[in-house]
Amino acid sequence: MKIRVGMGFDVHRLVEGRELWLGGVKIPHTLGLLGHSDADVLIHALCDALLGAACLRDIGYHFPDTDPRFKGIDSRKLLVEVMRLVREKGYEFGNADITVCAEQPKLNPHVPAMQAELARCIGCDPDCVSIKATTTERLGYTGRGEGIAAYATVLIEKQ
Ligand code: MG
Repeated sequence: MKIRVGMGFDVHRLVEGRELWLGGVKIPHTLGLLGHSDADVLIHALCDALLGAACLRDIGYHFPDTDPRFKGIDSRKLLVEVMRLVREKGYEFGNADITVCAEQPKLNPHVPAMQAELARCIGCDPDCVSIKATTTERLGYTGRGEGIAAYATVLIEKQ
């Protein structure tokens, strides 16, 4: 069996007047993430990790933010398409480990729902999608609440 790893990183700015979508789940909050799509930073990091593992460039290459087709798009659709590309290249999903850095809101209560939603999009067991929430101890742009960052590591495998 051939295994490959990939890593992804993304940041989006927190602003007023936007919904907050993380891991395919709408989270009640006073601010939301700004972006061309729904700005689901967690899914974007996961997509980049998957594309990286399969050596398929990056999310901006496949879904450019200048393309009106992707304006306001539900990032779960991007994840489904990324998994199609990964499988087209002969790989199957192994597992993912994701870390989200946000000062606010508290994300831990939403983790099971995010795991279930991502597993549904990927077509895997929720146990294969680990999501960890952390703050950055009020340091830097995430600590000041200016944005949310996400890191993802994935493993894919080919029989
Ligand atoms: Mg992004």
